[in-house]
Amino acid sequence: MKLFWLFVSSCCCLVFLSLGVDAVELNYQLVPRQLSSDTYVFVGKTEDFSFENGGNIVNTAFVMTSAGVVVIDTGSSLRYGEQMRQAIAKITDKPIVQVINTHHHPDHFFGNQAFKDVKIAALPTAIEDMEREGGAFSDNMYRMTGDWMRGTEPLAATEKLTADSLNVGDHKFKLLVLQGHSHADLALLDEKTGVLFAGDLVFYNRTPTTPHADIAKWLDALKQLEQLKFTYLVVGHGEVLQDKRAIVQTREYLQWLDQSLKASAESGKDMAEVLQTPIPEKFAKMPLVNFEFSRSVVHLYPALELAVLKPAS
Ligand SMILES: [Zn+2]
Repeated sequence: MKLFWLFVSSCCCLVFLSLGVDAVELNYQLVPRQLSSDTYVFVGKTEDFSFENGGNIVNTAFVMTSAGVVVIDTGSSLRYGEQMRQAIAKITDKPIVQVINTHHHPDHFFGNQAFKDVKIAALPTAIEDMEREGGAFSDNMYRMTGDWMRGTEPLAATEKLTADSLNVGDHKFKLLVLQGHSHADLALLDEKTGVLFAGDLVFYNRTPTTPHADIAKWLDALKQLEQLKFTYLVVGHGEVLQDKRAIVQTREYLQWLDQSLKASAESGKDMAEVLQTPIPEKFAKMPLVNFEFSRSVVHLYPALELAVLKPAS
């Protein structure tokens, strides 16, 4: 009998312990990094989604204007959005007046639910994609991050951004309508501070992801971004920089990916052979390069093979 109660009490201890650990673990520990007097960024980890990071792998930001706060991307879950909001409230008591999603991938808009009392804007095509793919993304995110997603339901942006600039209080954002990482990628240049928010068109020391990529259009978008003058470049994933290194790195990786896959298709390699392609030394240390390269082969190679097989007309 004694043994039985010992067993029961140790089980209870374990349950309480694990509840305690969960409560601690489900904190994203969002600490805003200040870029200018009124602009902050939350820099995520350069990892894939996991039970450990809960989806905190993305950069999000906020800008305090004279009319209130503008939030740029909302993270990967309701919980992320809520914790982002709490972190913003520690910096300013100004109301949040505008949320902008740079594109339709879940790590950039699944926190929208925490801002449902605010205007949430995105490019029209991005909104359509959020509505169409939100459910499938959600299943995937629950599978990859588990309990961090509790209560999260995809909430698409409702306000369509169709102009080429957006004024909020004393800030004017130039809106660059681009594509290539997804079907609709928005970059924003804050003309007051010179901070460029590039979304996932630019990665830094984190291998670019390609589930909806059109590499030719993406390279074109990078060309346009490179021509802009900026003080800081907030990339979608990776460190914030004050120069163009991230644009150059993203371009060089995408060019290599494109050229090596095209060369493989032309030489008739099958997918299993293409997966063995050696990664050039300059990219070999980029986090997740083997993983993302394999995913890119799956995303991009079938169309390249078809293009080679198509009889010349
Ligand atoms: Zn992303």
